[in-house]
Amino acid sequence: RFQVPVRRHRGFVIMLALATAALGLHAPMPVSRLSSSRMAAVRMESETPWFDDCVSTTTLDKSKFEAAYSAAMNKKQDFLEAEPYWDQSNIPVNTYKNKAPFTGKIISVKRIVGAAATGETCHIIIDHEGKMPYWEGQSYGVIPPGINPKNGKPNTVRLYSIASSRYGDDMTGKTTSLCVRRATFWCPELQAEDPAKKGVCSNYLCDASVGEQVKLTGPSGKVMLIPEKDPNADLIMVATGTGIAPYRSFIRRLFVEKTPYGEVYKGLAWLFLGVANKDALLYDDEWQSVLKSHPDNFRVDYALSREQKNKDGGKMYIQDKVAEYSDEIFDRMDKGAHMYFCGLKGMMPGITQMLESVSAAKGIKWEDKLKQWKENGQWHVEVY
Ligand code: FAD
Repeated sequence: RFQVPVRRHRGFVIMLALATAALGLHAPMPVSRLSSSRMAAVRMESETPWFDDCVSTTTLDKSKFEAAYSAAMNKKQDFLEAEPYWDQSNIPVNTYKNKAPFTGKIISVKRIVGAAATGETCHIIIDHEGKMPYWEGQSYGVIPPGINPKNGKPNTVRLYSIASSRYGDDMTGKTTSLCVRRATFWCPELQAEDPAKKGVCSNYLCDASVGEQVKLTGPSGKVMLIPEKDPNADLIMVATGTGIAPYRSFIRRLFVEKTPYGEVYKGLAWLFLGVANKDALLYDDEWQSVLKSHPDNFRVDYALSREQKNKDGGKMYIQDKVAEYSDEIFDRMDKGAHMYFCGLKGMMPGITQMLESVSAAKGIKWEDKLKQWKENGQWHVEVY
């Protein structure tokens, strides 16, 4: 059966109706985004983003982007490596500071969630001309234009985890991708979104046009780096929403690009993503394709809070999904795995409570176990 996702993009819907009619197909059924990659074949080029299953709000020069990608895929990704490649002693930190930011240029902004998602999330690609190199797991700062009405001073920097590998989505080493959720404010009295209270920087980024200049700081952060010295390290990556960003950069380095670490990697990269529903899943097509190419080294588990139930019949939150594998996770951590947490800070109490009760059931004192994992550098947290 031919299935398509619900779309809010009007032009897309019309084009889709024409395409389905042309193919002699019946009216499309709104279903999950999981099965929608088959739609790629009938999308018009001008609306097709370079990765499947997302709606474009501004278009980029797709042919140029893909040509750069294809050219890069024919050779090794090795021109941005340290010597040896796992040596993190000279990684770039704060190359550009608040007082002297780098001016990048927006290449593309795309909505990457379906119509039934809670809120809007965009994948944003920025040109840094190769002048702002970064490592997987780092963040960029963005200084939104304008004045903060609360103090009459220029708006201040906001941090965003980088969602591409150091080579960028086009593998040129000159672009950076961010995964940004538009912050809105729901006014209970008005029973509507209050535009006066919407998030300054996320709305600026999600509404940005191709070619627009953007002030960048960083890169920053060393908490979320990959322990590349160990090719056998298991990486357990837990995300809520846009917390997926650093893991996309990890997974591309490990399994999509021909990098020195990817070539030797023998561990398990295990992704847990918590979102509200299937339409809110982020980069699912990419994960499905890595599952096919690397079934022994990659796993992905989703917690869909509004669609799935946990074992007690309540909403399936990220900690409930992780709890389903708690014994295996404990075992892998005791053998040296690294566990990462990224996304909303509200997820941490649930996660630590869950792990604490698993420890108690094993007769282990949680504080001691956590201390041990932290001391070994196995515990990585970046929540906001
Ligand atoms: P702000 O303008 O700072 O407003 C903050 C919130 O307050 C908004 O939700 C807004 O709606 C609300 N608000 C505004 N005015 C009022 C008012 N009068 N009354 C009540 N509420 C109000 N975010 C991502 O999307 N992706 C990432 O990858 C990402 N990575 C991060 C990494 C790190 C290390 C950190 C620290 C943060 C990260 N963030 C990320 C969060 C990001 O930095 C911003 O905090 C976020 O985008 C909101 O910024 P803003 O300027 O849009 O909202």
